[in-house]
Amino acid sequence: MTARPRVRVPRGGLLVPAFAKINLGLEVLGLRPDGYHELRSLFQTIDLHDDIVIRPRPRTLEVRCDHPAVPRDERNLALRAALELRRHAGIERGAEIAITKRIPVGGGLGGGSSDAAAVLMALDRQWGLGLGPAGLHGLARRLGADVPFFLLGGTALGVARGDEVYPLRRQVRGHVVLVDPGRPISTAAVFARVDQSLTERQNSHTIFRFVSSDLEGLRAFSILTNELEEAALEEAPELAGQVRRIRGILVGEGAVLASLSGSGSSFFGLYDDGRRARRAHAALAAAGFRVLRARLVSLQQYRASWARALGASGVVRGSNQSRSGHHGDHRRQGHPGGGRKAQGLRVDRV
Ligand code: ATP
Repeated sequence: MTARPRVRVPRGGLLVPAFAKINLGLEVLGLRPDGYHELRSLFQTIDLHDDIVIRPRPRTLEVRCDHPAVPRDERNLALRAALELRRHAGIERGAEIAITKRIPVGGGLGGGSSDAAAVLMALDRQWGLGLGPAGLHGLARRLGADVPFFLLGGTALGVARGDEVYPLRRQVRGHVVLVDPGRPISTAAVFARVDQSLTERQNSHTIFRFVSSDLEGLRAFSILTNELEEAALEEAPELAGQVRRIRGILVGEGAVLASLSGSGSSFFGLYDDGRRARRAHAALAAAGFRVLRARLVSLQQYRASWARALGASGVVRGSNQSRSGHHGDHRRQGHPGGGRKAQGLRVDRV
């Protein structure tokens, strides 16, 4: 990952992380009667993150962001989250939400959704509402199908619109190399293309096979696919050649999985070994790609990071059966796994 500029936290303010996600697998099962798609998604948080500073304000709610492509009006999902939470709570408190963007915008990495979930959790604490992730779930799913996942984090299965989220008992740890082709792809446009080709296709069950396998060895990852890739590359045909090269380099350096994330445009390789990930990073950079390296963030690491960021007393606990993580508390914001020795692709029990 790139060096992080220091973010100043004012008195009474909160600095919270909004982590990116990748989809280790994504299956499109068809159209639902409500017009949304029935999905199965294997979500995974990574330690690439936006920083969000929340400053208390008497009444006004406003958002600032250092990225020119991110809107500052009500189209901003983080601002919408704050407005919805305030309406839901029936209070008149305000806040300034300052977002330092590091997650590529429109990259299929869930940046807007993660910002929104982070704002829900931070304002829930700052305004003393006591809703917690479970109480925020309904608001989160109305904001967007990927938002509920970020109330939980780690390795999780998303079903229905992807908004019904279950933590996996086995959490994956490892390294990821991310390529940002620098060309956002519209999620809506990709799904529109999927609809045109959804006739008479057999549903695949690779995610269930993956989840129910014992994940011994690394072969389990090779069955995973992203069923949006074809439509995404039809939507952005100029990326097809690039993707072939990117996949070739990632796999050539030993990736156990090389895939598009979400509806794109980011492409990632998953590694059990930090040295392989570094070599892949170097090879892609030498080939002229914009590339980032990150680590997977497990459920436990996600909770611990949020606990530090929210800074109140309490111990982090959570049920692996719950839909939403339960975040406890400490003072500083920390880097998940910071200071830990580099580890391979591991599977931890929650
Ligand atoms: P999705 O799959 O939900 O479309 P994505 O991960 O591909 O998301 P995002 O980075 O979330 O991409 O951005 C998608 C769109 O959302 C962009 O067009 C951006 O202008 C808009 N947006 C609204 N709020 C935010 C935010 N807080 N951060 C980033 N983008 C935002």
